[in-house]
Amino acid sequence: MRITVLGKSPSWQDAGGACSGYLVDDGETQALIDCGSGVFSKLRTVGDYADLDAIVVSHMHADHFIDLIPFACGLTYAPRDARRRPQLHLPPGGSEQLDTLVRGAGHSGDLISGAFALREYDPAGAVTIGSLRVRFQAVPHFVPTYAIELRSAAQPERRFTYGADHRATDALDEFAAATDLLLLEATLAHPEPDPEGLRGHLTPAQAGALAARCGAQRLVLTHISDELDAEWALAQARSAFGGPLDVAREGAVYDV
Ligand SMILES: [Zn+2]
Ligand SMILES: [Zn+2]
Repeated sequence: MRITVLGKSPSWQDAGGACSGYLVDDGETQALIDCGSGVFSKLRTVGDYADLDAIVVSHMHADHFIDLIPFACGLTYAPRDARRRPQLHLPPGGSEQLDTLVRGAGHSGDLISGAFALREYDPAGAVTIGSLRVRFQAVPHFVPTYAIELRSAAQPERRFTYGADHRATDALDEFAAATDLLLLEATLAHPEPDPEGLRGHLTPAQAGALAARCGAQRLVLTHISDELDAEWALAQARSAFGGPLDVAREGAVYDV
């Protein structure tokens, strides 16, 4: 599988950047993991959006799904002879939330369902998208959120694990154990203050510690602003994780 970082910003974009979006391509099937603001534009720089087989959304925060609206507009209104409907896999309850948003933004209610073959995934189950196999793991965040694992039927022993957004947790210990590529958020400059309160994100050091506990083969820090020093983030994560380590940048490619 080849993973391309289309967007790595947190909930506000980097200068010229995009929020969460990761393209997974095993040579047979193309899936987009999350579709935050700016991702549709970035997707267009690497290929034809109409070739995409599926989109999988980790959770219903705008920085992970809002570009489904321009994506649906392209699929609906662009001057093309043939039209495809990529699969759209939303978390449970996501279709109603998206429908409310689309109507509130003045679009017709069938914009999304007309553009995509929409379904809500069962987080306890697996999803097959062409040659890709997808599994989910609930992680603690402000809204229901699911880490996502992808494997290709061609090399089922190779795994890509995307943590989505979450606070420090042991939920990934088994799910991401010894994964080949672990993409973890590293949003925060400082740990969230109240360990008993509502918390939803990681520092780079917490991401490094989590990757070490999972025994990940490689760690990439994402959901990280260009207003946070990347060298500082690397050093923080390095203090806990000794394996190959990067801060995500748009256009970066990882082969798993
Ligand atoms: Zn986010
Ligand atoms: Zn979030």
